[in-house]
Amino acid sequence: MPDKETLHRQRMARKKAVVDAAIARATDKRGIVVIHTGNGKGKSTAAFGTLARTLGYGLQAAVVQFVKSRRDTGEEAFFARQTGVQWEVVGSGFTWETQNREADTATARHAWTVAQGFLRDPSLHLVVLDELTYLLKDGYLDEQQVCADLLARPPMQHVIITGRAAPQCLIDLADTVSEIRDVKHAFRAGVAAQAGIDL
Ligand code: ATP
Ligand code: MG
Repeated sequence: MPDKETLHRQRMARKKAVVDAAIARATDKRGIVVIHTGNGKGKSTAAFGTLARTLGYGLQAAVVQFVKSRRDTGEEAFFARQTGVQWEVVGSGFTWETQNREADTATARHAWTVAQGFLRDPSLHLVVLDELTYLLKDGYLDEQQVCADLLARPPMQHVIITGRAAPQCLIDLADTVSEIRDVKHAFRAGVAAQAGIDL
């Protein structure tokens, strides 16, 4: 019977062989679609973390915020000081604030033309479509159109889509999908949204 140390070494060697083989198989390099969905906190934050990575390599990126109408967030202030990122806030709050479906549909259409411009620009390495899912869920944008535009983007361009309840067609099209689960949120204990943490 080999000793504990030998068994551990053998187990690690087998694990390394499996991981090395998987790494050797993953040789493709192409633009991917990443979705951050689910009810937990962190979907937009994770997208901005990836944006920081992209800019760190001196690459170009763009962000479209579909639902937020405020321009005084910490993320926008921070990224405005960086080079290489275009930032568009195209939301108007949508129904729960405006209560006007016609105006919201027009806002959504305009918002998507802004996104389309970015999705056709091969100089952009990353496009973040923040809170896009809500416009699809509530029928302000046509799923087929959105999917077609995503598929027609430049081959090396990455896209991150955030928002709860991502529709199945987007999940089918995406390469990486993470669902962030809500285990606990300070808001339910009466804590307000705070600068630097939530905005
Ligand atoms: P964040 O921007 O903090 O990463 P998110 O993108 O995952 O959050 P959104 O629905 O866009 O989620 O959240 C916008 C705001 O709502 C943020 O202030 C966030 O803290 C808050 N929030 C997110 N998840 C929850 C939740 N489960 N309960 C209450 N508030 C939440
Ligand atoms: Mg968000």
